[in-house]
Amino acid sequence: MPTLFFGHGNPMNALVRNTWTDGWAAIGQQVPKPTAVLCISAHWYAPATHVTAMRAPRTIHDFGGFPRELYDVEYPAAGDPELAGRVERLLAPIPVGLDQQWGLDHGTWSVLRHAFPKADVPVVQLSIDETRAAEFHYETGKRLAPLREEGVLVVGSGNLVHNLHAYAWGCHDVEPLDWAIRFEARARDLMRRGIHEPLIDYESLGPDAMLAAPTPDHYLPLLYIIALQRDGERVSFPVAGFDGGSVSMLTVRIG
Ligand code: ZN
Repeated sequence: MPTLFFGHGNPMNALVRNTWTDGWAAIGQQVPKPTAVLCISAHWYAPATHVTAMRAPRTIHDFGGFPRELYDVEYPAAGDPELAGRVERLLAPIPVGLDQQWGLDHGTWSVLRHAFPKADVPVVQLSIDETRAAEFHYETGKRLAPLREEGVLVVGSGNLVHNLHAYAWGCHDVEPLDWAIRFEARARDLMRRGIHEPLIDYESLGPDAMLAAPTPDHYLPLLYIIALQRDGERVSFPVAGFDGGSVSMLTVRIG
């Protein structure tokens, strides 16, 4: 099974059709039908590692100030308590909480609504432990590798470049900022060559990295995905572009 990092961008992508969402829909058609999706979303950034373990996860509308119709979106995919238990065992001895409270946040459903519009693939979310350094997230990702052999689609959802201070709200066709282009290009090059160390230690990549990932939440899901790259395995970027000048919509596909 391939593994994917999606740049989800603005929550309104859940409702609209554009080149990015058409790209997500195409990916959903191209990949083998997964037995389940395990999603690491930027929006479940919590002080511990949890995995959703309920049979029917709720759709969480975790944003403010958007049109009513976005709050009406439901993504009724089933959960997969067996997969949650499998994740708990794979990550041992890291303590993993079997969660009954969270559900599916918009980092997950705004993309999956396009990729799997019938919501007929069970979905489990894994939280990002905000108390841990980047290396921990990469190593945690590595432990998920057997899931690819078991037909599970492991997905990261964030944005490689995500700076809302510099974001041109409502202006989708503004030119991307030069530092955003540079950082994305550098990350693409490293991923193509399978060189992960600088991507894990991204804070050492200089001022461009500080502007691209001023907070870790949208960047860290990428580390779970590149950790699953096997030696020499192909990386491609089936969806690309910038939103508002400072949000990279890059999708990374491995395998
Ligand atoms: Zn987001």
